[in-house]
Amino acid sequence: MKTYISSWPASVECPPFPRRLAILGATGSIGDSALKVAAKHPERFTVTALAGGRNGKKLAALCARFRPAYAAVLDETARKEFLDHLPTGHAPELLVGPEAYVRLAAMDEVDLVLSSIVGAAGFEPTLAAAEAGKMIGLANKESLVLGGHLIRAACKASGAVILPVDSEHNALFQGLAGHGADHEIKRLILTASGGPFRGHDRAFLETVTRDQALAHPNWSMGAKISIDSATLMNKGLELIEACHLYGLPPEMVGVVVHPQSIVHSLVEYVDGSQLAHLGTPDMQVPIAHCLCFPERVTVDVPRLDLASVGTLTFEEPDLDAFPCLRLAREAFDAGPSHPIVLNAVNEIAVEAFLGERIGFTDIPTMIEAGLDRHAPVDVSTPEAVLALDHEVRRETEARL
Ligand code: NDP
Ligand code: MG
Repeated sequence: MKTYISSWPASVECPPFPRRLAILGATGSIGDSALKVAAKHPERFTVTALAGGRNGKKLAALCARFRPAYAAVLDETARKEFLDHLPTGHAPELLVGPEAYVRLAAMDEVDLVLSSIVGAAGFEPTLAAAEAGKMIGLANKESLVLGGHLIRAACKASGAVILPVDSEHNALFQGLAGHGADHEIKRLILTASGGPFRGHDRAFLETVTRDQALAHPNWSMGAKISIDSATLMNKGLELIEACHLYGLPPEMVGVVVHPQSIVHSLVEYVDGSQLAHLGTPDMQVPIAHCLCFPERVTVDVPRLDLASVGTLTFEEPDLDAFPCLRLAREAFDAGPSHPIVLNAVNEIAVEAFLGERIGFTDIPTMIEAGLDRHAPVDVSTPEAVLALDHEVRRETEARL
């Protein structure tokens, strides 16, 4: 096994406390959980930068509370909303536009970047943080799906380390505990809740609504990842994420459905031992692990009580009803440009489903058609990755 990008090199010191944080995607669900952790442990963090997207009002309220030196929003409309709602007393330096996130991710005043923008928009800031040698808490799995090969190379060149926020990958990171040799690891096993439609067939899935799909049984998350969880695309993206993070081929990464979301994933060693990570399904737990790594801190979530959970169950994923997981595996096998297509079509399709322009089962159909149309192209530079992403989005929109 190649070295994995989450293993902390013994020769590198973790940034001291208080760590200077930049939270990209501060106005989202992961941003909320991260700021709960930061608020509980003010002695450990200086909130240096908070970046939102379009929600200027929410970002203004966060800035009034956490008083970062820098803030960022996506566009002029959000800038105006931000300024209209910012109370007097503290005015951070405000940056506007996609390049603002790249600048914040790489700035000298920041030790730790939490990459939690949703979607492909997270790729450039994550790459910038990797090139700048930062400690990165990575929630934005899409950046590895788009350009895991480039992010790995950037981490290697700069000494940047990615700590996985995604609960499954955080569980694997803890189960690996520094082990990384080929001869020790048999496979990684990602758990999947199965989403709100587990057990249903394709005919049922044709009838489901946006609100049903948004109602995840165990996790409270943003809209896009909630739909990805309902289609099982989330597990497909996570499979690719795991391969990049841990330097493993996809055949060494399995998926098992576990509806209770208590076991967050497992590492199987060659001696037959399987190390599982268990916990209450709340993203504050993996976020706190990443932000304070290698130390542990208290987190305000209900303690896991196995006796009251009672039963943990496991089953095979249904790849006929939920083809997205199979499509992701095939895309990763097909070469580095296919996952970019998979992700771009998925993002457009999920947006269209949320806008009630297409049905639930149209999502995998559109992705499969997009992958079938794609002829591999060179994606060895960030510009090529972004060009393909933009082209596939344009084409998919046009076909809608
Ligand atoms: P949300 O939709 O709740 O939040 C998304 C954040 O990204 C918001 O701050 C939003 O800003 C911002 N944003 C959206 N588009 C852009 C853009 N074009 N440029 C800059 N910022 C943008 O998503 P989540 O917090 O649920 O998810 C974030 C990431 O973390 C995703 O990649 C997801 O897969 C991953 N993740 C999430 C988990 C969860 O439990 N939520 C678990 C594991 C991984 P605004 O709202 O101001 O427009
Ligand atoms: Mg996950």
